Amino acid sequence: MEAFNLLIDGQMMPGAMTMEVINPATGKWLADCPRADAEQLNEAVAAAKRAFPAWAKLTYAARRAMIHAIAGALSARIEEFAHLLTSEQGKPLHEAIKEMYGSIAILKMLSSIELPDEVLKDTATETVLRHRTPLGVVAAITPWNTPMTLLMVKITSALVAGNTVVSKPAPTTPLTNLRFAEICQAHLPAGVFNMITDANDLGAMLTSHPDIAKVSFTGSTATGKRIVESTANSLKRLTLELGGNDAAIVLDDADLKSVAPKLFAGAMMNAGQVCLAIKRVYVHESQYDELCDELARLADAAVVDDGAKQGTQIGPLQNKMQYDKVRALIEETRHAGKIIAGGSFPDGPGYFIRPTIVRDIDDQARLVREEQFGPVLPVLSYSNVEDAIARANDTEYGLGGTVWSADSERALAVARRVNSGTVWVNTHMVLQPDVPAGGAKQSGMGVELGAEGIAEFTQSHIVYVAK
Ligand code: ADP
Repeated sequence: MEAFNLLIDGQMMPGAMTMEVINPATGKWLADCPRADAEQLNEAVAAAKRAFPAWAKLTYAARRAMIHAIAGALSARIEEFAHLLTSEQGKPLHEAIKEMYGSIAILKMLSSIELPDEVLKDTATETVLRHRTPLGVVAAITPWNTPMTLLMVKITSALVAGNTVVSKPAPTTPLTNLRFAEICQAHLPAGVFNMITDANDLGAMLTSHPDIAKVSFTGSTATGKRIVESTANSLKRLTLELGGNDAAIVLDDADLKSVAPKLFAGAMMNAGQVCLAIKRVYVHESQYDELCDELARLADAAVVDDGAKQGTQIGPLQNKMQYDKVRALIEETRHAGKIIAGGSFPDGPGYFIRPTIVRDIDDQARLVREEQFGPVLPVLSYSNVEDAIARANDTEYGLGGTVWSADSERALAVARRVNSGTVWVNTHMVLQPDVPAGGAKQSGMGVELGAEGIAEFTQSHIVYVAK
């Protein structure tokens, strides 16, 4: 593999240090990767600050043209990026390819949204205008579950609105991001986009940096709270997309044969490491046994293997820490519920966990209360739908959720009452670049995507003109 470098001030350069990236399917060394130090972080922020005035002055059209050129260059390298993504992240190749297409769609579609000047009022005595001005340097901090998609959401919104960026991937999945930085280097003016990497040690310095105007973060709720603290003294703008504990509510008229595979896929995609994955299922007592059996059958049949191998449905957990966490949760769950599929850990060296289905589990069990972020799904029964809605909403999280029914009107009435940023009826995980998404409660602040998502990267600038 060709060497990986940081992107600072238009230059690809080695890190002050290096670190190793592991392939989670083998547990073995995959590549060496640069690791920035504090000085390089400061250089990256300073370069972004210098580049800001000229970038902000460009028109949307001029900025969009450069982002579209990046999308074009990435389109020509989908296979290469998808393979690299699978080897660093673990997800099956078909999911990696989907992530690449999604990334390109975000670059193109999100950058095609423009926030024009508006006349809010025009009377005999006054005109009131709204301009939207970029904020300055944005810190884009991303996690290890969907490294490409999440980077695209952040940088496309930030850049098209006229901000410059310093981005920082998660230490265990920096490689696709660093390759992407090479493409950006060829298509953007120096300093407009910078990428540094760390070993989980530079995040706080970046978010508290006086020259960062906004932090756009996706990751755990715990880290999100730390970011709120570290940005408080300068009141930086924040967009936070955090954890979720999304419930699927299956109404008693649902056709389980068609719904069960969708629930299974919604819970197990990317080995369950998706903030918007289905994390709990509530099903009517009359269908409880049938759905449990069907999900267990799907789990038993699932092919768990190296994502690079054809036919793999579920890859390894992304890193050792997450593997240990989910494994401990499954061990604990043996006493809290009945494991009817999975609950086993194929011999290493990779971080594999068989998809695990748990029934007869108490609402207060940790697997139900907390975000598992792994391939283990609790199935709970309810006797009336009011009870199901109340239990689905009884959580500090509020990211997504799904409702399943043969009668979409009936499902919609339930969906309206799910207290979350997004809810899907008879489908799951449809995210479109022109539709905003965000979290309720402790699942986040603000929204991403759509005009509303881009607006979060601007200052609303109101001008009153007396006549
Ligand atoms: P996890 O705990 O699953 O690794 P995190 O939410 O901690 O997830 O990580 C998401 C991203 O946040 C990563 O890029 C990580 O390096 C970064 N990060 C970790 N700690 C901090 C922090 N205190 N401030 C800012 N970013 C951080």
